[in-house]
Amino acid sequence: MKRATQMIHGGPNIDQQTGAMGVPIYQISTYQQNSVDHFRKYDYARGDNPTREALQDTIATLEGGAHCLAFASGMAAISTTLMIFSPGDHLVVCDDVYGGAYRVLSTIFSQMGISSTFVDATNLAAIEAAIKPETKGIYLETPSNPLLKVTDLRGAVQIAKRHGIITLVDNTFMTPYLQRPLELGCDIVLHSGTKFINGHSDVICGFSVVTDPELAARIRYIQNAFGTGLGPQDSFLTLRGVKTLKVRMDQSQLNTIKIASWLKTHPRITAVHYPGLPEHPGYTIHASQADGPGAVFSFELDSFETTKRLLEASHLAAFAVSLGGVESIISYPARMSHASVPPEERLRKGITDTLVRLSVGLEDADDLITDLQQAIG
Ligand SMILES: *Cc1c(COP(=O)(O)O)cnc(C)c1O
Repeated sequence: MKRATQMIHGGPNIDQQTGAMGVPIYQISTYQQNSVDHFRKYDYARGDNPTREALQDTIATLEGGAHCLAFASGMAAISTTLMIFSPGDHLVVCDDVYGGAYRVLSTIFSQMGISSTFVDATNLAAIEAAIKPETKGIYLETPSNPLLKVTDLRGAVQIAKRHGIITLVDNTFMTPYLQRPLELGCDIVLHSGTKFINGHSDVICGFSVVTDPELAARIRYIQNAFGTGLGPQDSFLTLRGVKTLKVRMDQSQLNTIKIASWLKTHPRITAVHYPGLPEHPGYTIHASQADGPGAVFSFELDSFETTKRLLEASHLAAFAVSLGGVESIISYPARMSHASVPPEERLRKGITDTLVRLSVGLEDADDLITDLQQAIG
């Protein structure tokens, strides 16, 4: 089955009871049992519900992983999955990891004795140099946020295997349509399904996908114990969203290539960071491990005044946090996703006051260009 087909037929898509063309919203918390000795498959919806399960099966198929768990948010997926580690364990993490992941690692997991070293993961030698005897995992995001830096996933997996540790990848920017880290040897794929997978800016959800059944059982145990699973209504909406993932991603990506190429020639734009441009330092590695550059990129303007004008005068692209919706979203990393990072640290990472991130939606690309043109001035 090709990916577009998997999006429609990759999970149970017909209700067996009624023939309904879709798995209904099982808005139910508990299930009646017949036998004291053998409970039915479903007993209590914190553990599982059929709508969530249909979504999980679809995402597992798309990621080429045997097991998927759906969570109440991307951060619920990330935090619950990180609970597989124990006090004394150490992680090597890409230094431009998603702000929420940075926050839980640096303020919550660190207090529980699970420490992290943040490294420039575009440099495989830096990843390897940070590994200590107690290191248990490498945590990556590629392309990263907001500078779209690319990590060589096959290279990182080789390092992890040499040290007997696991590799975790946040695959939110790419989605399983464009990049499948499990097929490259990674052990755990994490997602904020809130973004492209659902795609309509109306659900918060997340996923953890693994091949190893024991790892899946551990994460499932923690999910049920903590109660971080996704509810049936949001599972249903996300199932509906994922059916159009391919066509949305294809069109948004075409728009992005057009807009990024135009911005590159604009006199007020000093840099464009997009792995779809041949001059991007990660272009070749990205093309070797993903099926496309995606629909999020960032760029730098010539001054803070131009940056402010663009953010405030852009009509079509909403000035907001988040990404991956059918509508374009323009955001300002220095005061949004990376506001909690101290200014010197932020500048060291290249997140300047003139850096803007754009998530390109399904509007007409020429309309978006005309709007950006008037806003940049
Ligand atoms: C949004 C996002 C998250 C967090 O997901 P939520 O659904 O907001 O909890 C994690 N990683 C990346 C890359 C994201 O963009």
